[in-house]
Amino acid sequence: MSLLRFKVVKEASDRKPVEVNLPSERPERYYGEAVFNREKMFEYLPKKTYDQLVSAIDNKQPISREVADSVAEGMKKWAIDNGARHYTHWFHPLTGGTAEKHDGFIEHDGKGGVVEEFDGKLLVQQEPDASSFPNGGIRNTFEARGYSAWDISSPVFIINKTLCIPTIFISYTGEALDFKTPLLRALNAVDKAAADVARMFDKDVKHVYSYLGWEQEYFLVDEALYNARPDLVLTGRTLMGHESAKNQQLEDHYFGAIPSRVEAFMLDLEIECHKLGIPARTRHNEVAPNQFELAPIFEETNLANDHNLLLMSVMNEVGRRHNFRVLLHEKPFAGINGSGKHNNWSLGTDTGTLLFAPGKTPRENLRFVTFFANVMAAVHRHNALLKASISSATNAHRLGANEAPPAIISIFTGKQIADILSKLETSTEDELITFGGKEGIDMGVAQIPEIMLDNTDRNRTSPFAFTGNRFEFRAVGSSANCASAMIAINAAVADQLKQFKAKVDARVEREESLYHAILEEVKALLVESKPIHFDGNGYSEEWKEEAARRGLDCETSVPKIFDAYLRPESVKMFADAGVFTEFELKARNEVKWETYTKKIQIEARVLGDLALNHILPVATRYQSMLVDNLVKLKSLFPGTKGDALTSVDLQIIERMSEHMRIIKEETEKMVNARKSANRIENEREKAIAYHDNVVPAMEIIRYHIDKLELMVDNEMWPLPKYREMLFIR
Ligand code: ADP
Ligand code: MG
Repeated sequence: MSLLRFKVVKEASDRKPVEVNLPSERPERYYGEAVFNREKMFEYLPKKTYDQLVSAIDNKQPISREVADSVAEGMKKWAIDNGARHYTHWFHPLTGGTAEKHDGFIEHDGKGGVVEEFDGKLLVQQEPDASSFPNGGIRNTFEARGYSAWDISSPVFIINKTLCIPTIFISYTGEALDFKTPLLRALNAVDKAAADVARMFDKDVKHVYSYLGWEQEYFLVDEALYNARPDLVLTGRTLMGHESAKNQQLEDHYFGAIPSRVEAFMLDLEIECHKLGIPARTRHNEVAPNQFELAPIFEETNLANDHNLLLMSVMNEVGRRHNFRVLLHEKPFAGINGSGKHNNWSLGTDTGTLLFAPGKTPRENLRFVTFFANVMAAVHRHNALLKASISSATNAHRLGANEAPPAIISIFTGKQIADILSKLETSTEDELITFGGKEGIDMGVAQIPEIMLDNTDRNRTSPFAFTGNRFEFRAVGSSANCASAMIAINAAVADQLKQFKAKVDARVEREESLYHAILEEVKALLVESKPIHFDGNGYSEEWKEEAARRGLDCETSVPKIFDAYLRPESVKMFADAGVFTEFELKARNEVKWETYTKKIQIEARVLGDLALNHILPVATRYQSMLVDNLVKLKSLFPGTKGDALTSVDLQIIERMSEHMRIIKEETEKMVNARKSANRIENEREKAIAYHDNVVPAMEIIRYHIDKLELMVDNEMWPLPKYREMLFIR
């Protein structure tokens, strides 16, 4: 057993960087080569079809069957010219990740052979037999089928000789069974609501786009070591393992030199990204050893999210080429930082204005404070929901631990913005009128410096931080589908802006000036949403108390956090924004609770197996060696001399027995807790039982196994240790 460990550790440390096949051309030549982008559409589609498709994409209109047929023809030709043999509708099921079912481009030709076939019907709509995807009871009836349909706003691409068509996945009766459908609905809602408000400042605005720039954090582990850890293979994280004597204390990994094996992997990954049109730009070491980050240039939210999902699967593949396993789990290793996926989010108009960017004139800055105050109000009102949108069994390990996110949502504004907002909030009627009136007269708001935030004014402890022209939702988990967070924030802000507009309109009808009306409403929002603003240390104990006093949601149990989706104010908000019906929300929460339970269930099983079949036998063997030695010593040195010589060993033997006893007892308790939880029918109650009764036992078991790791002969220990896994050379 121990031989295996030493073999894999040696194998891992002997590995050399894998040679990367560098394309001979420059990136701009191969960028997007695997994507059916506008350039290729223009080349492969009849001019008329091209115009119709592009206009449908730009105006968010559906395409007719006739256009679809013509697009399918050109798309097929392009795909086959580029080596594709299969096509698939690529969608985002509620399980996370992506799903695909491949079909070949072939059809009987009626003469005993086959022809390459792919028509518009197959492009636009399909009925994958995907009945085993979770749906929370939406498709429980016999006739309930699921349909996938092409999302024309996201271009198709080729990967592994397969043409992938980004699709939505809905039930026969139109309920969303995926993440993309509600995301598109939320983006439409925010487009409409934000454009209505943006037009108060600029009549030419037709559309508002939501932008997303994600930063993907991940760990790399050598594949030989990974394969020797059943917990990593089956659950994506280590369920045991004592901290390495050195981990991130010296902070020498962050932005440090990237090891050459990793650099080769990153280069390869970037080339793949660029071929797929993913604008990967930034890469660096993260805080924890073996932890890295990749960030692209931001894009429109729907496309950015598709790209993130695609990236996660490409990473796994490229990782294997380099004998790595990519760990996207939020907390693969205890005691060091976990991984997140910061979602940099902003809104921008089709006239090229970023709505969260301060401007140069009073009018521009009034627009800025308007959108800022509306975001604050939406985040304040829906802080519990936003937390629910990033919560999961896996992200729970970060939530509330000393790393973003704290289990409380708040907004960091930075001092300059805070000063401006508080000035505005307390300004008098006269000051407001003056501000709205002539240019040049200001009360501080008119002249917000353009670059306000330097890097020292960055609060790393805030889950939702303003960073100059965007908000950074830092609480999103590394393995999550960003859509979950993006649905919640865009829908909440859309709903808020709609209400804001209505109130301003009502004031204008009462013959207030537009700017006065806006300012009064902004002021009211700032007062109302004050409790969400927090620039202090989000990790501190005082903040937990203060946040509770402010009425912010402080729930830490993930199954209960999910309740926020079903609160009356959430149901109403999602319904008004046209994003979810109550029926959909209920169904999706069933899936969330079920997924939570299953994740913990699997972890508990794996832990039980490792404890009983891997750790305890080894510990027993080592302990019996100690006992054997002790008995021999005593017979060699009878009496007090023998007692003195063996007293420390005796203590060790006893301590080991104690740890082993607790491990056995707690494993038994854990199994029983699982069994009784499994008998609960209600998914919410079951998830709560797993959270309350199974998880605590797992933590105790781990604690005692980690103690044993420090006592048992290094040569006998069956699993690769943290210090062996965490330092790629
Ligand atoms: P950090 O300094 O927080 O590590 P970066 O400056 O590298 O991060 O940027 C993080 C991400 O934010 C990048 O993906 C970048 O494209 C994105 N980003 C920049 N501006 C915006 C914006 N206005 N809206 C959305 N994302 C943005
Ligand atoms: Mg960042």
